[in-house]
Amino acid sequence: MKITEHIEAANGKTLFSFEILPPLKGQNIQSIFDGIDPLMEFKPPFIDVTYHREEYVYIEQKNGLLEKKIVRKRPGTVGICAAIQSKYKVDAVPHILCGGFSKEDTENFLIDLDFLGIKNVMALRGDAVKSETYFRPEPNGNFFASDLVRQIAGMNLGDFQEEILDNSHNTDFCIGVAGYPEKHMEAPNLDQDIKRLKEKMAAGAEYVVTQMFFDNKKFFEFVDRCREQGITIPIIPGLKPIATKKQLSVIPHRFHVDLPEELIHEVEKCRDNEQVRQVGVEWCTEQSRELIAAGVPVLHYYSMGKSSNIKQIAGEVF
Ligand code: FAD
Repeated sequence: MKITEHIEAANGKTLFSFEILPPLKGQNIQSIFDGIDPLMEFKPPFIDVTYHREEYVYIEQKNGLLEKKIVRKRPGTVGICAAIQSKYKVDAVPHILCGGFSKEDTENFLIDLDFLGIKNVMALRGDAVKSETYFRPEPNGNFFASDLVRQIAGMNLGDFQEEILDNSHNTDFCIGVAGYPEKHMEAPNLDQDIKRLKEKMAAGAEYVVTQMFFDNKKFFEFVDRCREQGITIPIIPGLKPIATKKQLSVIPHRFHVDLPEELIHEVEKCRDNEQVRQVGVEWCTEQSRELIAAGVPVLHYYSMGKSSNIKQIAGEVF
Protein backbone atom coordinates (compact mmCIF):
# COMPACT_ATOMS: atom_id res chain seq x y z
CA MET A 1 0.00 0.00 0.00
CA LYS A 2 1.06 3.60 -0.45
CA ILE A 3 2.06 5.63 2.62
CA THR A 4 -0.79 8.03 1.86
CA GLU A 5 -3.22 5.08 1.86
CA HIS A 6 -1.87 3.86 5.20
CA ILE A 7 -2.43 7.34 6.64
CA GLU A 8 -5.93 7.51 5.24
CA ALA A 9 -6.80 4.02 6.51
CA ALA A 10 -5.61 4.94 10.03
CA ASN A 11 -8.44 7.47 10.22
CA GLY A 12 -6.67 9.97 12.45
CA LYS A 13 -4.79 7.45 14.59
CA THR A 14 -1.03 8.10 14.75
CA LEU A 15 0.97 5.29 13.15
CA PHE A 16 4.41 4.01 14.17
CA SER A 17 7.27 3.67 11.68
CA PHE A 18 11.04 3.70 11.67
CA GLU A 19 14.12 3.96 9.49
CA ILE A 20 17.04 1.57 9.28
CA LEU A 21 20.49 1.67 7.69
CA PRO A 22 21.87 -1.14 5.55
CA PRO A 23 24.64 -2.96 7.46
CA LEU A 24 28.28 -2.23 6.70
CA LYS A 25 29.60 -4.18 3.74
CA GLY A 26 30.58 -7.69 4.77
CA GLN A 27 27.87 -8.13 7.42
CA ASN A 28 24.83 -10.28 6.81
CA ILE A 29 21.15 -9.40 6.80
CA GLN A 30 20.50 -11.03 10.19
CA SER A 31 21.64 -7.81 11.90
CA ILE A 32 18.80 -6.03 10.07
CA PHE A 33 16.22 -8.58 11.17
CA ASP A 34 17.54 -8.43 14.75
CA GLY A 35 16.90 -4.66 14.68
CA ILE A 36 13.41 -4.99 13.19
CA ASP A 37 12.04 -8.00 15.12
CA PRO A 38 11.62 -6.25 18.52
CA LEU A 39 9.67 -3.39 16.87
CA MET A 40 7.16 -5.49 14.95
CA GLU A 41 4.74 -5.68 17.90
CA PHE A 42 3.98 -1.96 17.27
CA LYS A 43 2.73 -2.82 13.79
CA PRO A 44 4.67 -0.44 11.59
CA PRO A 45 2.87 -0.13 8.26
CA PHE A 46 6.15 0.82 6.64
CA ILE A 47 9.90 0.77 7.27
CA ASP A 48 12.35 3.11 5.54
CA VAL A 49 15.75 1.92 4.36
CA THR A 50 18.39 4.59 3.78
CA TYR A 51 20.64 4.78 0.73
CA HIS A 52 24.36 5.46 1.05
CA ARG A 53 26.22 6.86 -1.89
CA GLU A 54 29.77 6.10 -2.89
CA GLU A 55 32.77 7.63 -1.16
CA TYR A 56 36.22 8.28 -2.57
CA VAL A 57 39.27 6.97 -0.75
CA TYR A 58 42.88 7.60 -1.71
CA ILE A 59 45.27 4.69 -1.32
CA GLU A 60 49.00 5.28 -1.36
CA GLN A 61 50.83 3.18 -3.95
CA LYS A 62 54.40 1.78 -3.62
CA ASN A 63 55.63 4.58 -5.92
CA GLY A 64 54.19 7.19 -3.57
CA LEU A 65 51.34 8.15 -5.89
CA LEU A 66 47.76 8.11 -4.63
CA GLU A 67 45.18 5.87 -6.25
CA LYS A 68 41.59 7.12 -6.08
CA LYS A 69 39.15 4.31 -5.28
CA ILE A 70 35.39 4.40 -5.09
CA VAL A 71 33.89 2.50 -2.17
CA ARG A 72 30.31 1.86 -1.06
CA LYS A 73 30.28 1.16 2.66
CA ARG A 74 26.59 0.32 3.03
CA PRO A 75 25.26 -1.23 -0.15
CA GLY A 76 22.09 -3.35 -0.23
CA THR A 77 19.15 -0.91 0.09
CA VAL A 78 17.04 -2.60 -2.59
CA GLY A 79 17.78 -6.13 -1.42
CA ILE A 80 16.90 -5.23 2.17
CA CYS A 81 13.61 -3.66 1.03
CA ALA A 82 12.70 -6.81 -0.89
CA ALA A 83 13.63 -8.97 2.12
CA ILE A 84 11.54 -6.80 4.49
CA GLN A 85 8.46 -6.96 2.25
CA SER A 86 8.80 -10.72 1.89
CA LYS A 87 9.54 -11.54 5.55
CA TYR A 88 7.35 -9.07 7.44
CA LYS A 89 4.65 -8.25 4.86
CA VAL A 90 5.01 -4.55 5.53
CA ASP A 91 5.87 -1.87 3.00
CA ALA A 92 9.54 -1.04 2.67
CA VAL A 93 10.45 2.48 1.56
CA PRO A 94 13.83 2.69 -0.15
CA HIS A 95 15.55 6.05 -0.18
CA ILE A 96 16.79 7.13 -3.57
CA LEU A 97 19.27 9.91 -4.25
CA CYS A 98 20.14 12.33 -7.03
CA GLY A 99 23.82 12.03 -6.02
CA GLY A 100 25.71 9.31 -7.85
CA PHE A 101 22.86 8.56 -10.26
CA SER A 102 22.38 9.58 -13.87
CA LYS A 103 18.73 9.74 -14.94
CA GLU A 104 19.20 6.35 -16.67
CA ASP A 105 20.56 4.85 -13.43
CA THR A 106 17.54 6.28 -11.60
CA GLU A 107 15.16 4.83 -14.13
CA ASN A 108 16.75 1.39 -13.88
CA PHE A 109 16.70 1.55 -10.07
CA LEU A 110 13.00 2.41 -10.17
CA ILE A 111 12.27 -0.39 -12.64
CA ASP A 112 13.83 -2.85 -10.17
CA LEU A 113 11.68 -1.42 -7.35
CA ASP A 114 8.55 -1.63 -9.47
CA PHE A 115 9.25 -5.27 -10.36
CA LEU A 116 9.74 -6.05 -6.67
CA GLY A 117 6.32 -4.65 -5.81
CA ILE A 118 7.72 -1.67 -3.89
CA LYS A 119 5.09 1.08 -3.87
CA ASN A 120 6.83 3.94 -2.07
CA VAL A 121 10.10 5.81 -2.47
CA MET A 122 11.72 8.60 -0.51
CA ALA A 123 13.27 11.01 -3.03
CA LEU A 124 16.34 12.91 -1.82
CA ARG A 125 19.15 14.92 -3.28
CA GLY A 126 21.83 13.44 -1.00
CA ASP A 127 24.86 15.27 0.31
CA ALA A 128 28.12 16.08 -1.43
CA VAL A 129 30.60 13.19 -1.43
CA LYS A 130 32.77 13.41 1.68
CA SER A 131 35.84 14.73 -0.16
CA GLU A 132 33.89 17.63 -1.74
CA THR A 133 32.28 20.72 -0.23
CA TYR A 134 29.35 21.20 -2.59
CA PHE A 135 26.90 18.74 -4.04
CA ARG A 136 27.54 17.90 -7.68
CA PRO A 137 25.09 15.87 -9.75
CA GLU A 138 26.26 13.17 -12.15
CA PRO A 139 26.39 14.07 -15.84
CA ASN A 140 22.73 13.80 -16.90
CA GLY A 141 21.72 13.37 -13.28
CA ASN A 142 19.10 15.17 -11.22
CA PHE A 143 20.32 18.29 -9.42
CA PHE A 144 17.65 18.82 -6.78
CA ALA A 145 15.22 16.45 -5.11
CA SER A 146 12.41 18.25 -6.97
CA ASP A 147 14.02 17.14 -10.28
CA LEU A 148 14.13 13.55 -9.04
CA VAL A 149 10.50 13.76 -7.91
CA ARG A 150 9.61 15.02 -11.40
CA GLN A 151 11.36 12.05 -12.98
CA ILE A 152 9.57 9.54 -10.74
CA ALA A 153 6.20 11.26 -11.25
CA GLY A 154 6.93 11.16 -15.00
CA MET A 155 7.45 7.40 -14.89
CA ASN A 156 4.11 7.16 -13.10
CA LEU A 157 2.69 8.68 -16.31
CA GLY A 158 4.69 6.31 -18.51
CA ASP A 159 7.51 8.73 -19.40
CA PHE A 160 10.86 6.97 -19.72
CA GLN A 161 14.26 8.32 -20.76
CA GLU A 162 14.02 6.57 -24.11
CA GLU A 163 11.56 8.37 -26.23
CA ILE A 164 10.15 5.51 -28.29
CA LEU A 165 8.81 2.81 -26.01
CA ASP A 166 5.80 0.85 -27.21
CA ASN A 167 3.04 0.12 -24.69
CA SER A 168 5.14 1.31 -21.75
CA HIS A 169 3.86 0.39 -18.32
CA ASN A 170 3.16 3.23 -15.89
CA THR A 171 4.76 2.83 -12.49
CA ASP A 172 2.68 3.87 -9.49
CA PHE A 173 5.07 5.14 -6.82
CA CYS A 174 3.99 7.20 -3.86
CA ILE A 175 6.78 9.76 -3.39
CA GLY A 176 8.03 11.07 -0.05
CA VAL A 177 10.46 13.97 0.40
CA ALA A 178 12.52 15.51 3.19
CA GLY A 179 11.57 18.62 5.17
CA TYR A 180 13.66 20.57 7.68
CA PRO A 181 11.95 22.25 10.67
CA GLU A 182 15.26 24.03 11.40
CA LYS A 183 15.93 24.57 7.65
CA HIS A 184 18.36 22.74 5.40
CA MET A 185 21.95 23.84 6.02
CA GLU A 186 22.33 25.31 2.52
CA ALA A 187 19.05 27.24 2.46
CA PRO A 188 19.37 31.01 2.91
CA ASN A 189 16.43 31.00 5.32
CA LEU A 190 13.52 28.83 6.43
CA ASP A 191 10.95 30.52 4.18
CA GLN A 192 13.10 29.89 1.09
CA ASP A 193 13.56 26.28 2.13
CA ILE A 194 9.79 25.87 2.56
CA LYS A 195 9.33 27.39 -0.90
CA ARG A 196 11.64 24.65 -2.23
CA LEU A 197 9.63 22.08 -0.32
CA LYS A 198 6.51 23.36 -2.03
CA GLU A 199 8.26 22.85 -5.39
CA LYS A 200 8.75 19.20 -4.44
CA MET A 201 5.03 18.91 -3.76
CA ALA A 202 4.23 20.61 -7.07
CA ALA A 203 6.53 18.11 -8.82
CA GLY A 204 4.55 15.19 -7.36
CA ALA A 205 5.64 14.54 -3.76
CA GLU A 206 2.79 13.16 -1.65
CA TYR A 207 4.19 13.33 1.86
CA VAL A 208 7.07 14.84 3.84
CA VAL A 209 9.26 13.26 6.52
CA THR A 210 11.17 15.75 8.63
CA GLN A 211 14.71 15.87 9.78
CA MET A 212 15.05 14.98 13.47
CA PHE A 213 14.28 17.74 15.98
CA PHE A 214 14.37 17.85 19.76
CA ASP A 215 12.02 20.74 20.39
CA ASN A 216 8.42 20.13 19.28
CA LYS A 217 7.78 23.86 19.09
CA LYS A 218 10.07 23.98 16.05
CA PHE A 219 8.06 21.23 14.35
CA PHE A 220 4.70 22.88 15.09
CA GLU A 221 5.94 26.23 13.79
CA PHE A 222 7.34 24.56 10.68
CA VAL A 223 4.02 22.84 9.95
CA ASP A 224 2.16 26.13 10.42
CA ARG A 225 4.49 27.92 8.01
CA CYS A 226 4.23 25.09 5.46
CA ARG A 227 0.42 25.26 5.62
CA GLU A 228 0.53 29.07 5.26
CA GLN A 229 2.64 28.64 2.12
CA GLY A 230 0.14 26.13 0.68
CA ILE A 231 1.82 22.81 1.43
CA THR A 232 -1.13 20.50 1.92
CA ILE A 233 0.44 17.01 2.01
CA PRO A 234 0.99 15.05 5.27
CA ILE A 235 4.07 16.08 7.28
CA ILE A 236 5.54 13.23 9.31
CA PRO A 237 7.83 14.13 12.22
CA GLY A 238 11.18 12.31 12.44
CA LEU A 239 12.46 11.59 15.95
CA LYS A 240 15.69 10.31 17.37
CA PRO A 241 16.38 9.55 21.03
CA ILE A 242 19.80 10.72 22.21
CA ALA A 243 21.86 7.77 23.40
CA THR A 244 25.40 8.99 24.09
CA LYS A 245 27.05 12.11 25.48
CA LYS A 246 29.10 12.45 22.29
CA GLN A 247 25.89 13.03 20.33
CA LEU A 248 25.61 16.47 21.95
CA SER A 249 28.20 17.59 19.41
CA VAL A 250 27.80 14.90 16.70
CA ILE A 251 24.08 15.55 16.06
CA PRO A 252 24.33 19.34 15.55
CA HIS A 253 27.41 18.82 13.37
CA ARG A 254 25.89 16.12 11.15
CA PHE A 255 22.25 17.15 11.05
CA HIS A 256 22.39 20.93 11.61
CA VAL A 257 19.82 20.97 14.38
CA ASP A 258 19.86 22.60 17.82
CA LEU A 259 19.43 20.80 21.10
CA PRO A 260 17.32 22.47 23.82
CA GLU A 261 19.15 23.81 26.88
CA GLU A 262 17.21 21.56 29.25
CA LEU A 263 18.11 18.39 27.32
CA ILE A 264 21.80 19.37 27.21
CA HIS A 265 21.71 20.01 30.95
CA GLU A 266 20.14 16.61 31.69
CA VAL A 267 22.65 14.80 29.48
CA GLU A 268 25.61 16.61 30.99
CA LYS A 269 24.55 15.52 34.48
CA CYS A 270 24.76 11.83 33.47
CA ARG A 271 27.62 9.73 34.79
CA ASP A 272 27.64 7.24 31.88
CA ASN A 273 25.93 6.52 28.58
CA GLU A 274 23.44 4.17 30.23
CA GLN A 275 22.06 7.20 32.06
CA VAL A 276 22.21 9.29 28.86
CA ARG A 277 20.23 6.61 27.06
CA GLN A 278 17.52 6.82 29.74
CA VAL A 279 17.40 10.63 29.49
CA GLY A 280 17.09 10.28 25.70
CA VAL A 281 14.25 7.78 26.02
CA GLU A 282 12.34 9.98 28.47
CA TRP A 283 12.80 13.11 26.35
CA CYS A 284 11.71 11.35 23.15
CA THR A 285 8.73 9.74 24.94
CA GLU A 286 7.52 13.18 26.00
CA GLN A 287 8.02 14.52 22.48
CA SER A 288 6.08 11.53 21.10
CA ARG A 289 3.16 11.99 23.52
CA GLU A 290 2.80 15.66 22.63
CA LEU A 291 3.00 14.97 18.89
CA ILE A 292 0.36 12.24 19.13
CA ALA A 293 -1.90 14.60 21.09
CA ALA A 294 -1.45 17.13 18.27
CA GLY A 295 -2.68 14.49 15.79
CA VAL A 296 0.44 13.84 13.68
CA PRO A 297 -0.21 11.10 11.11
CA VAL A 298 2.88 9.00 11.88
CA LEU A 299 5.77 9.06 14.33
CA HIS A 300 8.87 8.10 12.39
CA TYR A 301 11.88 7.05 14.46
CA TYR A 302 15.48 7.10 13.31
CA SER A 303 16.52 3.77 14.81
CA MET A 304 19.97 3.67 13.16
CA GLY A 305 20.04 -0.06 13.76
CA LYS A 306 19.48 0.19 17.54
CA SER A 307 15.97 -0.82 18.43
CA SER A 308 15.99 -1.19 22.23
CA ASN A 309 15.43 2.52 23.02
CA ILE A 310 12.79 2.85 20.27
CA LYS A 311 11.03 -0.21 21.70
CA GLN A 312 11.00 1.38 25.14
CA ILE A 313 9.50 4.62 23.75
CA ALA A 314 6.95 2.88 21.54
CA GLY A 315 5.96 0.68 24.50
CA GLU A 316 5.04 3.85 26.41
CA VAL A 317 3.13 5.65 23.69
CA PHE A 318 1.60 3.08 21.29
P1 FAD B 1 16.68 19.27 -1.83
O1 FAD B 1 15.24 19.27 -1.55
O2 FAD B 1 17.11 19.20 -3.26
O3 FAD B 1 17.29 20.59 -1.16
C1 FAD B 1 18.70 20.75 -1.03
C2 FAD B 1 19.02 22.23 -0.85
O4 FAD B 1 18.81 22.91 -2.09
C3 FAD B 1 18.11 22.95 0.16
O5 FAD B 1 18.91 23.91 0.81
C4 FAD B 1 17.05 23.62 -0.70
O6 FAD B 1 16.52 24.76 -0.07
C5 FAD B 1 17.85 23.96 -1.94
N1 FAD B 1 17.09 23.97 -3.19
C6 FAD B 1 16.14 23.09 -3.58
N2 FAD B 1 15.71 23.37 -4.82
C7 FAD B 1 16.42 24.45 -5.24
C8 FAD B 1 16.47 25.21 -6.44
N3 FAD B 1 15.68 24.92 -7.47
N4 FAD B 1 17.35 26.25 -6.52
C9 FAD B 1 18.18 26.56 -5.49
N5 FAD B 1 18.16 25.87 -4.32
C10 FAD B 1 17.31 24.83 -4.20
N6 FAD B 1 20.86 11.27 2.77
C11 FAD B 1 21.39 10.15 2.20
O7 FAD B 1 22.50 10.18 1.65
N7 FAD B 1 20.70 8.95 2.26
C12 FAD B 1 19.49 8.84 2.84
O8 FAD B 1 18.91 7.75 2.87
C13 FAD B 1 18.91 10.02 3.43
N8 FAD B 1 17.69 9.97 4.03
C14 FAD B 1 17.13 11.13 4.54
C15 FAD B 1 15.85 11.08 5.11
C16 FAD B 1 15.28 12.23 5.66
C17 FAD B 1 13.89 12.17 6.25
C18 FAD B 1 16.02 13.45 5.66
C19 FAD B 1 15.43 14.68 6.28
C20 FAD B 1 17.29 13.50 5.09
C21 FAD B 1 17.85 12.36 4.53
N9 FAD B 1 19.13 12.38 3.92
C22 FAD B 1 19.65 11.23 3.37
C23 FAD B 1 19.92 13.63 3.89
C24 FAD B 1 19.67 14.45 2.60
O9 FAD B 1 20.12 13.75 1.48
C25 FAD B 1 20.44 15.77 2.76
O10 FAD B 1 19.88 16.55 3.78
C26 FAD B 1 20.64 16.59 1.49
O11 FAD B 1 21.65 17.56 1.75
C27 FAD B 1 19.40 17.33 0.99
O12 FAD B 1 18.49 16.49 0.46
P2 FAD B 1 17.02 17.03 0.03
O13 FAD B 1 16.34 15.92 -0.62
O14 FAD B 1 16.38 17.70 1.17
O15 FAD B 1 17.46 18.12 -1.08
